[in-house]
Amino acid sequence: MSFPLPPYADLDLQPLAGHWRHGASPRQLEVRDPYTDQCLLSLPLATREDLDQAYQAASIAQAAWAAQPPSARAAVLLRAVELFDQRREEIIGWIIRESGSTRIKAEIEWGAARAITLEAASFPSRVHGRIMESDIPGKESRVYRRPLGVVGVISPWNFPLHLTQRSVAPALALGNAAVVKPASDTPVSGGLLLARLFEEAGLPAGVLSVVVGSGSEIGDAFVEHPVPALISFTGSTPVGRSIGRIASGGAHLKHVALELGGNSPFVVLADADLERAVHAAVVGKFLHQGQICMAINRIIVEQPLYQAFCERYAERVKALRCGDPSDPATVIGPVINQRQLDGLLGKIDKARAEGARVLVEGAVEGRVLPPHVFADVHPEMEIAREEIFGPLVGIQPARDAEHALELANASEFGLSSAVFGGDLERTVRFARRIHAGMTHVNDIPVNDAPNAPFGGEKNSGIGRFNGDWAIDEFTTDHWLSVQHGPRPYPF
Ligand code: NAD
Repeated sequence: MSFPLPPYADLDLQPLAGHWRHGASPRQLEVRDPYTDQCLLSLPLATREDLDQAYQAASIAQAAWAAQPPSARAAVLLRAVELFDQRREEIIGWIIRESGSTRIKAEIEWGAARAITLEAASFPSRVHGRIMESDIPGKESRVYRRPLGVVGVISPWNFPLHLTQRSVAPALALGNAAVVKPASDTPVSGGLLLARLFEEAGLPAGVLSVVVGSGSEIGDAFVEHPVPALISFTGSTPVGRSIGRIASGGAHLKHVALELGGNSPFVVLADADLERAVHAAVVGKFLHQGQICMAINRIIVEQPLYQAFCERYAERVKALRCGDPSDPATVIGPVINQRQLDGLLGKIDKARAEGARVLVEGAVEGRVLPPHVFADVHPEMEIAREEIFGPLVGIQPARDAEHALELANASEFGLSSAVFGGDLERTVRFARRIHAGMTHVNDIPVNDAPNAPFGGEKNSGIGRFNGDWAIDEFTTDHWLSVQHGPRPYPF
């Protein structure tokens, strides 16, 4: 199935410092459809000089943008929501072609990006300062909340549109300017498309730049640059760690928000509804080929249900349709690129070598890796310890609920998690003991709501997205006191 060419022309241009132009590097980036391997576009990369110009222009444009009345900033966000609706098919088409998303996932991603844009439209009128009591006679103590200034956004390829927009929309709504570095696999849905959309929505030139450059050439400079006050990074834990180090160890200290890797446990307690749990475990694992930070990484089943769960799960997984992601019936499309596919094949070999029992397997076709399920997995096996980020999963037996909790918490990561149980209050008590930023009872761990705090604990990151948490993240406090009369100083 093919999609019409987008009405947005000249996608090889980047919005740099208020102008759409080519990156200045002689190096070209080829963006390929992961399923067909067709070259979708080829664009010259941005250089450090381009990046510097983008940051400098953002710094100038930000002051005027922040000075606009809240309703004017909200109007731009609301117009962007209208454009999301008008250009729905075009946006979904790009997500499918550029990131190999199935239509199911592309529609979910479009919906999530639209939802955070709508939520962010309310932010300009939700920023509150405070007036506080003071012990000092004649003193008024006020706290103003103001934008940080310029925000640097680095996003991954798996949910490129949404994971860029969940930083950009709140940042802009709250009076910041933003410079985005999308992932090299997805520069269009991870940045260029959003910049076209915001321009059409009336965002002043220079407030948003998109810098498509190689990590090795502009990665460090993006973080070290003196202009950005916050680096909002979503990606892997090793890269996030290095960004945190640069942001705190360089010449210019800055805030960092780090949304990193995950290893979500999916726990099935002995009194769970087996069919509901099996169905959820299929969706929570295989949506977008498992390439989601919140995707189920470990299935942990209490002993009385273990055999039955393994059998039903294998049956349902075998029935999943793999292939062309643009076919609406496809559930499992291609893995993003050859490097990721090679890594996943290595994990499958390792799981076999470590003695996991194969329940479901299949042969790779092109970049499509059919689902693989392993049973009798132990917590020390690689498939349990490491983030998988692909369509394979291991099932671990648990002796009892306490053992299930111990297994669930046996990870360096703490992003999302899920637990199925019949006795709701007991299941909630169990859920509260899981060490993670997010836990979903009787549901999949893959959940995102524009008004609920999204983020991780442990090596899954620092900070929270969405709602009031995003307002905190993308603004800062300014304490201002006013001494009305002479103050009785001590000397
Ligand atoms: P990645 O860390 O390799 O890359 C993420 C982004 O960082 C890309 O834009 C990349 O170009 C850029 N980058 C790479 N090296 C850089 C450097 N030295 N300096 C600056 N930028 C650099 O991750 P990925 O492979 O794109 O994405 C998959 C990972 O992202 C997984 O670990 C997944 O769990 C995580 N993720 C987390 C969340 C979350 O919300 N916690 C969401 C989605 C993905």
